[in-house]
Amino acid sequence: MHSPNPPLLMDACAPATADVIVVGGGVMGMMTARELALAGRRVLLLERGQVGAEASWAGGGIVSPLYPWRYPPAVTALAHLAQQAYPVLASRLLADTGIDPEYFSCGMLLVDAEDARDARAWAGIQGQMLKVLGGESLSRQVPGLGPGWRSGLWMPAIANIRNPRLLAALAASLRALGVDVREQAAVVDWRQAGGRVTAAVTGSGEAFAADSFVVCGGAWSSRLLAPLRAGLPVKPVRGQMLMYRLAPGELPAIILGEGRYVIPRRDGHVLCGSTLEEAGFDTVPTAVAYDSLMKSAGRLWPALCGSLPVAQWAGLRPAAPNGIPFIGRVPEFDNLWVNAGQFRNGLVLAPASAQLLADLLLGREPRVDPRPYQVL
Ligand SMILES: Cc1cc2nc3c(=O)[nH]c(=O)nc-3n(C[C@H](O)[C@H](O)[C@H](O)COP(=O)(O)OP(=O)(O)OC[C@H]3O[C@@H](n4cnc5c(N)ncnc54)[C@H](O)[C@@H]3O)c2cc1C
Repeated sequence: MHSPNPPLLMDACAPATADVIVVGGGVMGMMTARELALAGRRVLLLERGQVGAEASWAGGGIVSPLYPWRYPPAVTALAHLAQQAYPVLASRLLADTGIDPEYFSCGMLLVDAEDARDARAWAGIQGQMLKVLGGESLSRQVPGLGPGWRSGLWMPAIANIRNPRLLAALAASLRALGVDVREQAAVVDWRQAGGRVTAAVTGSGEAFAADSFVVCGGAWSSRLLAPLRAGLPVKPVRGQMLMYRLAPGELPAIILGEGRYVIPRRDGHVLCGSTLEEAGFDTVPTAVAYDSLMKSAGRLWPALCGSLPVAQWAGLRPAAPNGIPFIGRVPEFDNLWVNAGQFRNGLVLAPASAQLLADLLLGREPRVDPRPYQVL
């Protein structure tokens, strides 16, 4: 581990210095910054608001793509690496920071998936545990399941992670590693010279110089790159969520049906998600989504019909075409990198995405073929 950074200068005429500046403090930015700091780099993280307060906070934390067999191999490759990494990462963060990200290996029951045959074939090839259930074996697997579901796929190895706690642990870990985390520091412009970015400029006019820059701006990544005339086809897709409070252990597993899910937390909270909406950058929750999610929650887990949600929120997923994220260097610049566009799978993919970005930036041998994630 390297020693904490000396104070950085914050004058537009005498730009601050770091080895790497990461822009955006969601799960992608914080995990990327952590990987780079663990490799001994001096890292500065610039976050527009507070770290861990956007999509990464709003998400459900399922450590798997939904219906994983429907995704392209590029998503599966990152998901597998990340699923292997998560239990160790969660324990490491707890040991280092005292904050428990509550990795919860609860399993996932997928009901009435019409492409169960594809799921079985995929699981066989991928070596994933998947059991086909029907009739009474369904409610034996998850007692209390709603009536009317005819078939199920049980994936016992799927976990969920309590993402707000994961984010708090990551932030604490970054500070312990000496990463300079600057909040309320929105990057609004860049300086460049000779095919290199030389500084990120924040709204207050402060310029921060570094050898390399990594854009992890989630749904805002394309806006962030616009002043450099570097295009990135990542757009916001809103997702809304409800939260209920039950007794611990009442809901034993994640249940997924008709594209909606309920997720149990260890302390009895249950999340129900989520919508998929094209609403620009609007994160105001709606009454329509509230009613529709409540209906889904009751169908999946009727015990929820007896209680009202204790919270509703919305977040903006960073959607890239086919859900394949962009992880790599921006072709027009020698030292500008992107790790963005994980869409519905940013929490599960984050450890592997961050590692791939760090491998490429540091010139290490990547553990996955980087070509599918190249920035166009
Ligand atoms: C309802 C919902 C449910 C989900 N469920 C799951 C799930 O179960 N499992 C899963 O794997 N994924 C899930 N996701 C997806 C996952 O949450 C996202 O893919 C992931 O959080 C994206 O992380 P990120 O760091 O790229 O983006 P964000 O968390 O949005 O972080 C981007 C950061 O960049 C900052 N930023 C933006 N512009 C600037 C600027 N100009 N200067 C400085 N900083 C800037 C923002 O303030 C923000 O903090 C869900 C998402 C939603 C909305």
